[in-house]
Amino acid sequence: MTNVKENYLEIKNEIKTIAKNCGRDPHDILLVAVSKKHTCEIINKGIEAGIEILGENYIQEATDKIELIGNKTVSWHFIGHLQSNKAKYAVKYFDLIHSVDTIKLAREINKQAKKINKIQNILMQINISGEESKSGADEKDAIILAEQISRLPNINLQGLMGMPPFYNDPEKARPYFSALFNIKEAINNEHIQGVNLLHLSMGMSGDFQAAIEEGSTMVRVGTAIFGPRQ
Ligand SMILES: *Cc1c(COP(=O)(O)O)cnc(C)c1O
Repeated sequence: MTNVKENYLEIKNEIKTIAKNCGRDPHDILLVAVSKKHTCEIINKGIEAGIEILGENYIQEATDKIELIGNKTVSWHFIGHLQSNKAKYAVKYFDLIHSVDTIKLAREINKQAKKINKIQNILMQINISGEESKSGADEKDAIILAEQISRLPNINLQGLMGMPPFYNDPEKARPYFSALFNIKEAINNEHIQGVNLLHLSMGMSGDFQAAIEEGSTMVRVGTAIFGPRQ
């Protein structure tokens, strides 16, 4: 049996130590506990241990769980690939959507948010790996996409999300993290009205140390907290 509480507290501690060692305030780094493919029972153990943010990847699975667990004591983030036809549910259930990568999707989110009188917080997912098969906006299009999104009144663009093409190899991942940091700076330097990106969602179980050292403000940790997925 995975000891979720022990794992969670250990990761929290590690984040604190890593932040301090690189001169950052540990409070500037949010821990998104990624609970995809884990049961409500295990997730509730995590919540009892103090988890404040949960990350989910699949709309149907996530909305079923959120209906059962609720959103009073935890915040839910959507981190998976989002199809426009599911935007309605993402808007209804999630405080932050990490994976907005096209203007089409952003417009649909804006439309759905307007319907329920919500300002939807989002991140733009950038394809830092440059692989065709990976989701995320092209690096060169990121500024244009940020400009387009900034004109959508029911969306609040808060930052960027990215995934390196490697798992569990922090030193190989590091240049991709620093590239994402640089894209964030480049977008902020455009001084687009209403755009001031604060968040960088990067780093997972195997590489969150390198991500924090390169400026991550949200690490998305699944396996290291909840154990292996089915
Ligand atoms: C599953 C997933 C994670 C968590 O990965 P672990 O290696 O289990 O920590 C983080 N981010 C995204 C986008 C994921 O799909």
